[in-house]
Amino acid sequence: KTTVTVPDLIAWLRRTGELMAEHAAELSDLDSAIGDGDHGTNMKRGFAAVAGVLDEDFETVDALLKRVGSTLVSSVGGASGPLYGTFYLRMGTSQKGATELDAASLLGAMSTGVEGIEARGKAGIGEKTMLDAWMPALEAFGRAGGSLADALRAGAEAAAAGRDATEPMVATKGRASYLGERSAGHIDPGAASTALIWQAAVETLAG
Ligand code: ADP
Ligand code: MG
Ligand code: MG
Repeated sequence: KTTVTVPDLIAWLRRTGELMAEHAAELSDLDSAIGDGDHGTNMKRGFAAVAGVLDEDFETVDALLKRVGSTLVSSVGGASGPLYGTFYLRMGTSQKGATELDAASLLGAMSTGVEGIEARGKAGIGEKTMLDAWMPALEAFGRAGGSLADALRAGAEAAAAGRDATEPMVATKGRASYLGERSAGHIDPGAASTALIWQAAVETLAG
């Protein structure tokens, strides 16, 4: 496909929820090592709540994504709820009135979403957070050229590599930062959930 429609976005969000549920134990185990052990249950609960609103009528990309963002904010107590919630809210408001996105507008929308994560969390690259998966993924997506499918696959590969690259990092934001140097040697759970969002994008949008 060359464009992503509202039903395509819904399929992406549903698949994201399935992957969060399948990987919930793994995400919480990662969070047990450097945080409070709830990232998997947070993501599973949040995206289950999202799945519960996806049957409503959405005419536009922004109507859908605003509903998704506010659902995540209100259903997830941890840091990740407002951060991912802000991602979808900003992604939506950047595309007011749109009913489909081509590769360039999808990149623009996700970039605006990630700027929201940065603004809200006041973190940058290399601080061992979800941004260490998001930022290389968007860069690879933008650089890829070619088809939407190829760009999504490049983004997902970079997200997974970014997730893995958080392992040696020392956390300077979020709960993991309380551990200081002892946070090194573990993959960041939020970077792992971001890689799942990209995996879901490839599985649903790169057909
Ligand atoms: P909590 O830490 O409140 O229990 P979660 O466990 O659900 O929330 O989410 C933790 C994840 O949130 C971290 O692994 C990290 O990726 C992300 N995170 C935490 N603080 C920030 C921040 N300031 N900026 C970006 N991401 C952050
Ligand atoms: Mg946690
Ligand atoms: Mg928590």
